[in-house]
Amino acid sequence: MASYDCSKCPGYCCSYPVIPITKRDVQRLADHFGLGFAKARKKFTVKDDEDDYVLRRKADEHFGKVCRFFDTDKRRCGVYEARPSTCRQYPAASRCGYYDFLKFERELQEDNEMVATTDNR
Ligand code: SF4
Ligand code: SF4
Repeated sequence: MASYDCSKCPGYCCSYPVIPITKRDVQRLADHFGLGFAKARKKFTVKDDEDDYVLRRKADEHFGKVCRFFDTDKRRCGVYEARPSTCRQYPAASRCGYYDFLKFERELQEDNEMVATTDNR
């Protein structure tokens, strides 16, 4: 059973600087938004030295930058049904390191709302 609760987390995993996705993921996003592959690729991804499709980012008050699909008001994925495979699999374990970190900091500060930040920018 999972020992983390994404509904209580501000979305650390979506602030990761490089989130590579697959061609199939781009196509799924394209279908979801009714776009062609090329347009979706340009709109949603950037290319870096190692990966052809990396999720674009946008500004975020807590993390500096976050995935362009992140809903910064609700603090959760804004494209959940069409999210890429990497996002579906994460954290691929019963624990989430980010959540453990958050829980630890919130207990330490006795503040269940605080958003502990990392240098993950
Ligand atoms: S960092 Fe962990 S707990 Fe937070 S949203 Fe991502 S998977 Fe969920
Ligand atoms: S697609 Fe959704 S789950 Fe994946 S990084 Fe972006 S906001 Fe997070």
